[in-house]
Amino acid sequence: MNVLLTGGAGYIGSHVLRALTGAGHTCTVYDSLVKGHAQAVHDADLVVADVADAAALANALREYRIDTVVHFAAFIEAGESVQQPEKYFRNNTAAALTLLETMRGCGVGRLVFSSTAAVYGTPDRVPIEETDRLAPINPYGSSKLCVEYMLRAYAEAYGMGFVSLRYFNVAGAHPNADIGEDHHPETHLVPLVLAAAMGKRTGVKIFGDDYDGPDGTCIRDYIHVCDLADAHVLAAHGVRPGEVRVFNLGNGEGFSVREVIETCREVTGRDIPAEIAPRRAGDPPRLVASSRKAMDELGWRPRFPKLRTIITDAWNWHREHPEGYGS
Ligand code: UDP
Repeated sequence: MNVLLTGGAGYIGSHVLRALTGAGHTCTVYDSLVKGHAQAVHDADLVVADVADAAALANALREYRIDTVVHFAAFIEAGESVQQPEKYFRNNTAAALTLLETMRGCGVGRLVFSSTAAVYGTPDRVPIEETDRLAPINPYGSSKLCVEYMLRAYAEAYGMGFVSLRYFNVAGAHPNADIGEDHHPETHLVPLVLAAAMGKRTGVKIFGDDYDGPDGTCIRDYIHVCDLADAHVLAAHGVRPGEVRVFNLGNGEGFSVREVIETCREVTGRDIPAEIAPRRAGDPPRLVASSRKAMDELGWRPRFPKLRTIITDAWNWHREHPEGYGS
């Protein structure tokens, strides 16, 4: 396949780039570099442009004879989306419409979409299945769910084919430790806790300890970024014309914020001070995936399901790159 990765210079995109290239596909990265890092794509072709720029996008689709798009480019902070919803609907939803229209105009009919567990909002039960109620509780989740609705309409109207992957909590880094997570500002739990372990932060805040559950802190299902990347390769092969196939991606096991911090203490051997802070707006108490469908239909098998392995790989990346790609 000739694949265009929008947002391919980002954290997940760069790991998927590596997996697709390793599987023999020809890849081109399309990234504004507003959040992404040119160093993360190594020697892959890189087009520096925005998804909202239809002319640049059409040029890239034609020049690189693209047949499949994997669309990562998006803003991803649930908390920020509550404060600045317009940013999320413009960049995540409206730009995706530009992408779909440009693909249609260029005769490119296959796309894998980065969706999110945030489309479920506060689930009625866990583990969550793909057919469960869709009810986002923050604009980030809504901005992604709107795109899923567009995919359905485009599949039906134009026969285009889509796979939507609903990610749970992605963490870890490539075991080579040469690509990894580097967000500015960082808002995700695992890199923040590891930054505290390195002494780059004084400690970590636990956003709420009065949720229902064993220790009162939020529960999430953590998935290794390389396992997530493998799923994209399978998904790219699994695109079917006229269909939207939807898959959850997680490990089916929930860990509390306190358990994540404790595992980081064990892996790093460092003292990591933690203090209780108020709940963060837009946080569901508990998200755990059933990924049975991805296993049954795509043949996906996580290689690194253990939280300890995920955190160890993240730690190796952060230790070797204390300033991220700026190191
Ligand atoms: N969290 C926290 N302190 C932090 C960052 C995150 O307690 O400094 C919590 C957050 O409230 C959520 C979990 O850690 O319950 C995972 O948050 P993250 O932002 O990593 O991912 P999200 O679940 O929002 O996609």
